[in-house]
Amino acid sequence: MSHIFCVANQKGGVGKTTTTVNLAAGLAQLGQRVLLVDLDPQGNATMGSGVDKRELPLSVYDVLMGEATVAEAAVAAPACGYHVLGANRELAGAEIELVSLPQRDQRLKAALAQAAAEYDFVLVDCPPSLSILTLNGLCAAHGVVVPMQCEYFALEGVTDLLHTITQVRANLNPDLQIIGLLRVMFDPRTTLQQQVSEQLQTHFGDKVFQTVIPRNVRLAEAPSHGLPGVVFDPAAKGSQAFINFAREMMGRVGVAAPAKGRKPAAKKAVASSAARRS
Ligand code: ADP
Ligand code: MG
Repeated sequence: MSHIFCVANQKGGVGKTTTTVNLAAGLAQLGQRVLLVDLDPQGNATMGSGVDKRELPLSVYDVLMGEATVAEAAVAAPACGYHVLGANRELAGAEIELVSLPQRDQRLKAALAQAAAEYDFVLVDCPPSLSILTLNGLCAAHGVVVPMQCEYFALEGVTDLLHTITQVRANLNPDLQIIGLLRVMFDPRTTLQQQVSEQLQTHFGDKVFQTVIPRNVRLAEAPSHGLPGVVFDPAAKGSQAFINFAREMMGRVGVAAPAKGRKPAAKKAVASSAARRS
């Protein structure tokens, strides 16, 4: 059975996509079979995995509409070692179209159920809102990973999100757990960030991941090369932190030492324009 996790935070620009692609790549490097599901119509996780969102024959949109299976729509991200169920602007229309469909918030869950045996981890990159798309992610998931910056209003924002998760658990998905809060874009020289980081640990205890992701320009540069930082520059501080995070995640969900040589099933790749240029 796969572990299905949403990377969610209703704020934009907090590091959801960076966390999703780098955790996916880190877990893949540790021998895990990983599927990344891009639930954001911006398609940043798709492009950031080297898959051109404009050339997807099928996407997560077709899966949500019931017109394709996950197995049919997922493609390989060869440089990254995982599979991608990609997204593009077509997905923006799904918000409206889903309203009239039966089981509108359970459609990703139903689709992933058929693919669960193929993957050890399924990571869902959510859009920055509590839309029907995010709800599909939260209903499909066993757990939520919350990336957050240690800023002044961070605690307030996270309290709202935790409230939403409690609601979803009560009404739609009793299995939903908070796997943990991940401190990202951290600058240890900033006193305020240190203070907020300590507050987080006081409030949430071991729900705060031990790994801290530093602010690191190589992580920000990697998407323009169609790669997660972990693949683009494995030696960079930020990449090392994400590898450590992948290890911590495996420990947290009780996955034993990496099984060597296991790869996701072979799949056709959709090359990115960045990859084609090089
Ligand atoms: P979200 O998906 O929540 O909108 P992103 O992952 O796209 O957030 O991150 C927002 C911006 O911050 C992007 O430009 C990304 O490259 C940059 N970024 C994310 N994490 C880091 C980091 N640890 N260090 C430096 N830049 C980062
Ligand atoms: Mg994003």
